[in-house]
Formats: sequence, C-alpha cells, structure tokens
Amino acid sequence: MKRRGLLIILSSPSGAGKSTLTRRLREWDPEISFSISATTRAARPGEVNGKDYRFLTVDDFKRMVADGDMLEHAHVFGNFYGSPKGPVADAIEAGSDVLFDIDWQGAQQIANSPLSQHVLSIFLLPPSITELRRRLETRGQDSAEVIAKRMTRSWDEISHWDSYDYVLINDDLDATEERLKTIVTAERLRRTQQPDLIDHVRRLHAEFEEDS
Ligand code: ADP
Ligand code: 5GP
Repeated sequence: MKRRGLLIILSSPSGAGKSTLTRRLREWDPEISFSISATTRAARPGEVNGKDYRFLTVDDFKRMVADGDMLEHAHVFGNFYGSPKGPVADAIEAGSDVLFDIDWQGAQQIANSPLSQHVLSIFLLPPSITELRRRLETRGQDSAEVIAKRMTRSWDEISHWDSYDYVLINDDLDATEERLKTIVTAERLRRTQQPDLIDHVRRLHAEFEEDS
C-alpha cells in the first residue's frame, strides 16, 4: 500500500549526536532523503556544498526567504539557516521520508505549517553537560571560541525539549539508533500516513456486506 512520507525533525544542542544519528538512519534506510539546509555560515573542513549544506551569501539567503522558497528559517549562532521548500512536498507525496537536522525554531515553524500532520519530531538530550562539552571537543571541528559559543547556547536549545513528540537521551549510540528506528517504523504506520487505508476499508466493507 502507498504511504505518505514523514518530515522527520531531529533537534538537539550542538554536539549531542544529530549528524551521527542522521547518518546511521540513512544507512539503515537509504530511501530517507536529507533536507539540505541553506546557510550563510562558512563551510567547515570536509563539508561539501550541496551535500552537507548549500552555502549562500546573506543576500542570496534573504532572496530565497523573500521569494517564499523556505519552509522555515532561523538565525542561529549569528548565521542564517533555512530549509528549502522545493524538495520536501514532492518527496512526501511520493512516499519518501525527509530528515531535517534543524533547531527548535525551525521545528516549531514546520510544526505550524500546512505539513504539520506529517511531522515526526524527535529531540536528543545529552547524558550530561560535561559529556556534551567532551563530544564537541573530541569532534575536533570547532575552535575553542566556537565551542564556548555552542555551549552557551546549549541550554536555550535544551529548554525546548518538551515541544517534541519524542525525546531520547543519547547515551549509548547503538541503543539510541535502535530507538530511533523503532520510532520511525511505528510512525510510518500512523493512520494519516496511509492514504490508501480508506480504500482497503471500503473493500472490506463491501466484502462484509456480501458475506452477511
Ligand atoms: P551534532 O550533529 O548534534 O552537533 P555529532 O553527531 O556531530 O553532533 O556528534 C558530536 C560528537 O559526539 C561526534 O564526534 C560523535 O561521534 C560523538 N557522539 C555522538 N553520539 C555519541 C554517543 N552516544 N556516545 C559517544 N559519542 C557520541
Ligand atoms: P551547525 O552550524 O553546527 O551545522 O548547525 C548549527 C545549528 O543550526 C544546529 O542546531 C542545527 O540543527 C541548526 N540548523 C541547521 N540547519 C538548519 C535549518 O535549515 N533551519 C534551522 N532552523 N536550523 C538549522
């Protein structure tokens, strides 16, 4: 039976494990597409334009917003970030899930959009603030100054934990991955994700009437 795609939103304070779990979820099901955000921040070493992010100038970013081409957008760590609208609606209708690695502001905007009934939002909490700092430091991608900035902002992000459908404490990575897959598997069976159910039930009804 045909199904509708989910908009799977993954948020957390920076360093809690979004990118790692995004990668693992997509290895588990390569049909899940990733919403490539647009951003005005500079690329980190190893990041590829058009794969990790679309790196835009502030003017180009603002133009996309003005043209109504963003599903949501926000200002994070002094830079603009946004999810381009184009690829999302088509993927959902075609039955593919789209994964978003976005902050709480973007999650709220999508939850209030016309696509809200197809949203699955998940928040990742770190086991402790000490471990969050350790992960940012061992990731080795950011300067001490950037890490300090991310740590300062972490509470702002964590404080929105209770507006998400699911909350996972990312202590053991493999366990968190399993929980994430379980959630996605179950949510795909949500009634609103199965547009052909109504036809199936009609057929059951016709058969039932014939039978009785
Ligand atoms: P985010 O995308 O949320 O900023 P990352 O996925 O980049 O976070 O994870 C930050 C660092 O923590 C990475 O080096 C990653 O390998 C590591 N990490 C992620 N989850 C765990 C975990 N459960 N246990 C230990 N290290 C983890
Ligand atoms: P980073 O610079 O570490 O890649 O991302 C910083 C923060 O911006 C993360 O919390 C990430 O989830 C968020 N982010 C990335 N892309 C988007 C987006 O398109 N929209 C919003 N609202 N947040 C985003």
